[in-house]
Amino acid sequence: MEGEDGLSSRLDADAVAKLTRGQTVSLRKRQGEKGLVQYFFLPIEVPEAEGAIQLAEALEDRSRYIRHALVREIVVGSLIVLASGAVVIVLGVFVIGRPLSLLRARIDRIGEGNLSEQVALRSRDELSALAEGLNAMCSRLSAAREREHAETQKRISAMEQMRHMDRLTTIGRLASGIAHELGTPLNVIGGRAGMISDDAISLCSREIQTNADTIKSQADRMTQIIRNLLDFARQRPPKRIEVNGEEVVRQAVELVSCLGYNARVQVESPQGRSSLVAKMDPVQMQQVMTNLIENALQAVLEARDVVVTIESAITTPPGDIDAAAGHFLRIAVKDDGVGIAAEDLPLVFDPFFTTKDVGQGTGLGLSITYGIVHEHGGWIDVQSKPGVGSCFTVYIPQEESA
Ligand code: ADP
Repeated sequence: MEGEDGLSSRLDADAVAKLTRGQTVSLRKRQGEKGLVQYFFLPIEVPEAEGAIQLAEALEDRSRYIRHALVREIVVGSLIVLASGAVVIVLGVFVIGRPLSLLRARIDRIGEGNLSEQVALRSRDELSALAEGLNAMCSRLSAAREREHAETQKRISAMEQMRHMDRLTTIGRLASGIAHELGTPLNVIGGRAGMISDDAISLCSREIQTNADTIKSQADRMTQIIRNLLDFARQRPPKRIEVNGEEVVRQAVELVSCLGYNARVQVESPQGRSSLVAKMDPVQMQQVMTNLIENALQAVLEARDVVVTIESAITTPPGDIDAAAGHFLRIAVKDDGVGIAAEDLPLVFDPFFTTKDVGQGTGLGLSITYGIVHEHGGWIDVQSKPGVGSCFTVYIPQEESA
């Protein structure tokens, strides 16, 4: 076994043994300039000797070819990956991104209360199913809103009707109150005037004098009732100027003190005068204080004091949960008189509600008071217990915004 480059002479014993057994032997050797060479030894039969054919193949070209092929594959593969990525991004924008942004814009408009627009997607996939669901939801919400609106309108018109009925009831009560209040003095006047005209000759001058006095006092009473009614009906807007609340109260007390009640009125202003200024109509507020103090004096049977406390308080209007707390002039008129029955308490501010005897009260004082206080942007509150006493508290804003 001899090769051209003597390689076969360097075959190891194992390889020679394999060839001898008729097996093929292959091996790689680096051969100078040729580089790596692959050798195959195929056993052949040679007469009287052992032989083998040696085949040699230079591997350098093949590995260059493989290297180039590998680089080409990597480049082509990368280009394919990049192209696929671009296609995916473009498809993603058109197939998912655009419909999603349309849906998001639609949801924003729903959030703003616009239920009328519909979102239309051309695709037939989950997103278009979502859009259809959104459209159906908007239609249902819109129908519910229309129903709600119709019901609200119905409720408003029912309330309007009730308010109209309420107004009619008030007018009815007003008419019956006027008829009742004016009817009695008119009967008395008519009777006395009739007596004078029928028996003018037989009546002595003293009797004529008595009848004339009665006619005059009843006419005065009617004048007072009509004046109260006019005050009640006129509802002129208050002419507000800066006034010290304590001054208004003291003037009212002075006026009432001439009326000869047993009880006295005590005025207390624990904070001092300077903080008791508010913008109000002094004439109207004096009317308010006169009404409240006179009612209190009438309720106190024995010679006990009625106490009027005037102070500045920081509070919020009742029933207005959004209102910020503000400064209010608080004037409380407190008596320990007869008090007000629980069933009468909600009625005391109604026009013509009175528990006083005929000729004693018109039932207009508190309703006028209520109107004036509300015209000033304030409110009036009452606490009372029968047999214990009553406290009427008026709140008048001390700040423009209150
Ligand atoms: P009037 O005094 O002419 O009756 P008002 O409107 O001033 O009319 O009062 C209505 C009713 O409220 C009174 O008839 C009385 O029953 C009740 N009232 C008002 N103030 C008091 C008070 N301080 N104590 C007890 N009852 C009162």
